Formats: sequence, C-alpha cells, structure tokens
Amino acid sequence: MTSPSIVWFRDDLRLADNPALRAAIDREEPIIAVYVLDDGSSGLRMPGGAARWWLHHSLASLRERVTERGGVFLLRQGPTAAVISELVAETRAGAVFWNRRYGGPERELDTGIKAALRQRGVEVRSFAGSLLFEPWTVRTGSDTHFSVFTPFWRACLALPAPRDPLPEPRELHGPRTAPASDDLDDWQLLPTAPDWAGGLRETWEPGEPAARVRLREFLEEDLPHYDTARDEPAAGATSLLSPRLRWGELSPFTLWHDATRQEGAGRFLSEIGWREFAWHTLFHFPQLATRNLRREFDAFPWPRLKPTRLAAWQRGETGIPLVDAGMRELWHTGFMHNRVRMVTASFLIKNLLIDWRRGEEWFWDTLVDADDASNPFNWQWVAGSGADAATYFRVFNPELQAKKFDRDGHYVSEWARDAPTEPIVDLGETRKAALAAYETMRRAR
Ligand code: FAD
Repeated sequence: MTSPSIVWFRDDLRLADNPALRAAIDREEPIIAVYVLDDGSSGLRMPGGAARWWLHHSLASLRERVTERGGVFLLRQGPTAAVISELVAETRAGAVFWNRRYGGPERELDTGIKAALRQRGVEVRSFAGSLLFEPWTVRTGSDTHFSVFTPFWRACLALPAPRDPLPEPRELHGPRTAPASDDLDDWQLLPTAPDWAGGLRETWEPGEPAARVRLREFLEEDLPHYDTARDEPAAGATSLLSPRLRWGELSPFTLWHDATRQEGAGRFLSEIGWREFAWHTLFHFPQLATRNLRREFDAFPWPRLKPTRLAAWQRGETGIPLVDAGMRELWHTGFMHNRVRMVTASFLIKNLLIDWRRGEEWFWDTLVDADDASNPFNWQWVAGSGADAATYFRVFNPELQAKKFDRDGHYVSEWARDAPTEPIVDLGETRKAALAAYETMRRAR
C-alpha cells in the first residue's frame, strides 16, 4: 500500500529550488500537492485585491506545470488545520512537507498542525525556502536580534553562504486516483464587478516561467545600471522581482546564486538584505502591521482623520505631481517604484498627518507584492516608528524629489498628465505642523 507525501504550497509557488517538494520526491511515494485558501479564520491576514489577482494566476500556472509533469495539484478552501488534517486522513498520507513561514499567526498555525500530525504518526518536516538566513541564526554579539540594518547585513554575510538552489523536477508522480479539488474560478480571486484588473493584465505575467525570464533579463540588461539609476522611477533599472519573491515564484537562493556570479551585484544584493531584515523584524515583532515598533510613537498626536484627504491621496488627486503619479501607477499596475513609495508614504504621514496604518492598508490592498513583512516594515520606516527608521523630522519634499529623480519629468508625464494642479495642502505649512506634532510626542515621553 502506498502512503503518499503531501506537499503543502504556501508562499512558494514554484517547482525549482523547492526543498519541501524535493523531500517529497526523495521519499519515493506518490505526491499530492495542495494549496489551501484559508478564509482568515486562523488569524491570517487575507491578501488584498491586487495580491489575490496575482495568486489566481500564479496558482493556475503552477497547477498546469505540476500536471504536465504527471503530478496532481489540489485546491482546497477552509480553515487550514482542518483542511490539512482531513486531506491526510482521506489520502492516508504518510508525510506532509512544507517550506517555512515567518509571520506570527502562520507560525502558530504551522506548529499546531505539525504537533497534531506527528501525534498521528505522520512524518512532518519544514524547510527553509523563503529566506536566505533563518531569523534565529542572525544574532548580535550580546545574543539579541539586530535593530539596525548595516550590522545586520554584515552579520548575515559573515554566516556560511546561502546553499545552492535545487534543480527543477522533470517528473512528478501523483496517486493513481486524484483526490477532489476545488475549481480555481470558484474561489473568486479575480475582480469581476467591476473588473479593475486591466492594468495588471497589461503589466504582468504571473508564474514561475515568467519570473525566470525576468531574472535573466534583469541580470543581463539592467544590473549594470542598477547602482546609478535605481532611484529614478522612469529609468526601468530595478528588477521588478518583488511580486516574484512575494509569491515564491523565484527562490531567493536562485536569485542569490545567479546574482553573486555577476560583477557589481553588491548593491542589489543588499536590497535583498532589506527584504531579509524586514522578515526578521516581523519574526521578532509579529504585530508589525498594527503596533509601533518604537513605543514612544504610541503618543503621536494624530489629528482626526479627514476622509476626503485620504481619498485624494488614494486616487492620486493631491495636486502634487510626483505623489499623484505614484498613486496612479499603483492603481493601474499594482506596483510603484521604491523611491516613489517613500515619497507618497511620507506625504501621507507627514503632510496629511494621517496615521501610517491607513497607508499600509491601502498598499496592502493595491500592491501585487504586498507582504506581511516588507509592507508594514517600510511604512514604519518612513513614519520613523520602525527598525533603523528614517528620523521623523526627515520630511521628503516631493517637489525636490521630483527635480532630483525625475529630472526630465518622464515619470510624472506618464502617470499624472491629467492630474489636478492645485495642491490640497501647503507643503511648507504642513511640514511645520508635522514637526510640531513630533515635538508634542517627544515631550509626552
Ligand atoms: P529592486 O530594487 O530590484 O530590489 C530587489 C528586491 O529587493 C525587491 O524585489 C525586494 O524583494 C527587495 N527590496 C528592495 N527594497 C526593499 C525594501 N525597502 N524593503 C524590503 N525589500 C526590499 N516591498 C515588497 O516586496 N512588498 C511590499 O509590500 C512593500 N511595501 C513597501 C511600502 C513602502 C511604503 C515602501 C517605501 C517600500 C515598500 N517595499 C515593499 C519595498 C520596495 O519598494 C519594493 O521591494 C521595490 O520597490 C520592488 O521593486 P523591485 O523588485 O524592482 O526592487
């Protein structure tokens, strides 16, 4: 009698360099791949609208690739622990393998599932597939975790180098009769009424094959200009790999392996380091999306929310060209260049005096790369309340930022040609008000 291996896919929607999948292949029993759509009942944060669009297409691509290789890929919906438990019983699986997640509720859920299955005699193993360095392995001299990036990254680089990526399997053997699967369309991950995803379709092709193509293209064509042009939103010099990493279509080990073989990749790799730092910070501070990392910011005197101002920011109707261009790029493509993310976030927090959490929620819903770590980590970084954060009184001036990083105005004219020209706030006055609010907070300490 066979005892199949279940590979539980989560944020690792790929075949190449997938250690959980590799372990299942090595076990030499039929493989059942599964993805569980949890409705949030386990305390997990549900993906936002743009991320759900990406998830739909990435799952469709992965399922096709698994099937082409002779495997089965199931979709099941419901509370994760119950779904996995039932699938093990139904298929008489002897093993369940997965790649680790690092958010608080995810870890709690996975630990519970692991313990329950082991009690039933099922082999359960988890693997490192999403981060180059496990969060508990990077420690300061006094055995604490790092709160400043530069020594953090230095410590990472002093550890044994990340392992080589694992090859992509050519064949997968599923059970003779495939267990039932949901229909992906029934999950309704795609927007319908209205269908706002036209810009996403124009911009992206989710799935592992397209991720590999983009990595190759970036390393060959764009990496040489990365250091000098990465801050210019119109230059097209960055990798656009963030959604690929978010959904695990591309493993950071593959990226590391391929990029370290190129000349001058240090700066690019240190950006991957920021991703690691964000995830390590979430591991040590699971409430990153809701609580100030620096507790003194709990006393920040946010004024009462003016919904019309928040709406003007969301729609790209602030009358500040670089801000409006960024917010319109985001709405249309599900993406925004990093420099512009910093400028739009700073404008919301410091010129509109709106709590960073409102901005984080909007990005969560509209970014295809929104993840549990990088999004709140960076919002807190801009707000000044986070790890190794920009100081609060560093207020980006969006006009000067545009002069410096969009000299010829290409980015603004691409995205904000027809935006309003009358600013909703005075940049100088609001900057002063923000600094005064910051002083009030400091005095409240
Ligand atoms: P590249 O410049 O090519 O960088 C390569 C990779 O490094 C990126 O794909 C990303 O995985 C990682 N990276 C680069 N910068 C950062 C950073 N500051 N923090 C964490 N990882 C980084 N990134 C996300 O992946 N998801 C988010 O939800 C997210 N939200 C953000 C919110 C705000 C307010 C800000 C200021 C930044 C946010 N970022 C987020 C970080 C950054 O803007 C994006 O990772 C980057 O723009 C993606 O473009 P790229 O892949 O071309 O980057």
